[in-house]
Amino acid sequence: MDHDAAVSNAKGIADRILAPAARQNDKEARFSSEAIAALGQSGLLGIMLPSAVGGSALGPRTLAAVIATLAEADASAAMVYLMHVSATVTIAAARPCATVAQTLKDISTGKHLTTLAFSEAGSRSHFWAPVSRAKRNAANVHLTAKKSWVTSAGYAQSYVVSALAPEGKGPTDTTLYLVASGTPGLSVAGPWDGLGMRANASAPMILEDCEVAPGLQLTDDGVGFKAMLEVVLPLFSLGTSAVALGLCRAAVAGTAAHLNGARFEHLGQTLGESLPTLRAQLASMQIDTDGLAARIDDLVDHLERPRETTMLRVLECKAAAGDVAIAVTSAAMRVCGGAAFSKHLAIERLFRDAHAGAVMAPTGDVLRDFIGKAILGIPLF
Ligand SMILES: Cc1cc2nc3c(=O)[nH]c(=O)nc-3n(C[C@H](O)[C@H](O)[C@H](O)COP(=O)(O)OP(=O)(O)OC[C@H]3O[C@@H](n4cnc5c(N)ncnc54)[C@H](O)[C@@H]3O)c2cc1C
Repeated sequence: MDHDAAVSNAKGIADRILAPAARQNDKEARFSSEAIAALGQSGLLGIMLPSAVGGSALGPRTLAAVIATLAEADASAAMVYLMHVSATVTIAAARPCATVAQTLKDISTGKHLTTLAFSEAGSRSHFWAPVSRAKRNAANVHLTAKKSWVTSAGYAQSYVVSALAPEGKGPTDTTLYLVASGTPGLSVAGPWDGLGMRANASAPMILEDCEVAPGLQLTDDGVGFKAMLEVVLPLFSLGTSAVALGLCRAAVAGTAAHLNGARFEHLGQTLGESLPTLRAQLASMQIDTDGLAARIDDLVDHLERPRETTMLRVLECKAAAGDVAIAVTSAAMRVCGGAAFSKHLAIERLFRDAHAGAVMAPTGDVLRDFIGKAILGIPLF
């Protein structure tokens, strides 16, 4: 599969499976297993995995385009996909071992969904500092943790879990482990009933003395934090920005359709023909959306050709994208007025979904704090 085929597959899934069901899945907070099956059949679950394990070995440019395409139809499904890809690259970067190799093959053949379980009730959005600590027991470790939000909770076949290393000294001396869904002690701890992203099952999970064999330790002890920053964060920033872009494009398209369709019958004009203020607001939405697309292209370029400014761009892109998505979907709510407010249009779902980006870690506030520190030469951690 090349770039064009990947984007075309994503568009097919968006049109056939995501768009028709998005409204109902949002209403019922229903996880779309059909979407995952289609992504698996199309080969998109192994998009960034190396060809040696059956993956498509595609890069950040394709990932961003695929995620934006999915998000335009259903941001919940796009977020499930992003969490999966973020976890797959973490697994692929792990120390080689038979179980991990089999997991990567299962992902590439579309049989395995995975996700990230980093955030903890104790350290909240500070995912880099888990309060849970792995306990060594002979060759294995045991994990006990309260994971506060895990996208695809109960639907993934595996979870990339963080914990403090057994002998870790500092708050970021973490290790990453792969925990299979059937592991005794692993359970979903409650329902997911979010304001937005309602169809992505981001429920809390509990690990109660879960035994993990040495082959499922993904990083060396204390090196999980480095993997979070160097492997996960760049793709997660890119992916959340692409979700934001998809939401903005859907908001522009939905608003344009409303302005072209709704009429002032007493004037004999559509809303768009009648009101310059609405046209100007639509124009601002388009300008912001294209600005975000350009920012994402710039981040892709920095990821393809890493340089000194790459990490700054990683931090900036997610921070900016969260704000743009909220601004553009808020404008759409105002422009589409009562029709949007009364849930006659999909706009209000986009508006709710758009608010997740800024609170997903690293949150927009934390990113600004990091960026400010980076500019001033103050250590981030
Ligand atoms: C839809 C959704 C899906 C998610 N999926 C996952 C997942 O799959 N895996 C996972 O690990 N986590 C996931 N999360 C969790 C997410 O990454 C955050 O950890 C969580 O949203 C943090 O919420 P909180 O209220 O506990 O944050 P808090 O830490 O309590 O933050 C509260 C406020 O304080 C601000 N704040 C915190 N620290 C600072 C600081 N240093 N400087 C300035 N401001 C600060 C924050 O920006 C926020 O506004 C998900 C969250 C959501 C909403």
